[in-house]
Amino acid sequence: MSKFYRNRTGFLSSLTKGGGLYAALGATALIAVSLIALLFSPGEPALEVVVPSDTVGNTDSVVTDSLTELSSVSLTTSDSTDDSSQGATEDASGTIPEEDVGMILPVSGTVGTDFSLTVPVFSETMNDWRVHQGIDFLTEGQIDVVAVADGVVEQVYIDELMGLTVEIVHADGTISVYQSLSGEAAVIGGQEVRQGDVIGKSGNSADCECLVGDHLHFALVREGVYLDPNDRFTS
Ligand SMILES: [Zn+2]
Repeated sequence: MSKFYRNRTGFLSSLTKGGGLYAALGATALIAVSLIALLFSPGEPALEVVVPSDTVGNTDSVVTDSLTELSSVSLTTSDSTDDSSQGATEDASGTIPEEDVGMILPVSGTVGTDFSLTVPVFSETMNDWRVHQGIDFLTEGQIDVVAVADGVVEQVYIDELMGLTVEIVHADGTISVYQSLSGEAAVIGGQEVRQGDVIGKSGNSADCECLVGDHLHFALVREGVYLDPNDRFTS
């Protein structure tokens, strides 16, 4: 014990006294090597870091995926919330296929200008070529126009170009539009109508079709898109 102490003291004293230069250099070298080893040891993993960098990338994409999943989950949640909050309306309008809502002809008459959404047709009144978003039924005088299917009158108004207009929304969400009506409509907004109920009379109130004579301009709209009524008539 005392010998060890003495030796140790001797070593330390030789260092402090500068007597053991080589020993001091040796110790410094040891420390330096240790430091280098320490410096390089993180350096080696630095090579490994390149490998984990893929993992980091994957982690990012995993995080992104997770976020995407989260956002889609939240969207799904909000959707389902909307569904539940709108319940009855959605069920009434959204789940009935349009082919299940059969439509009858809205008036007795012959077809003048037919539905032509993509190919322009000549308009005698406007003296130009334009698409026709509905069907003109030419009538003998001003005669009854009927609802093509059960529904609720969405609105009754006078359109600047198309004259007296009645719109009826049906169970599948399709809106039937009756224009160029004469006199006053036989229905009011919010009124429930049954298929075949009279909603007004054909006429000549559409300024942009005034040369056509008495007629009904009939259109179908679903989700903002004009449909070909010919595809929906069952009679
Ligand atoms: Zn028309």
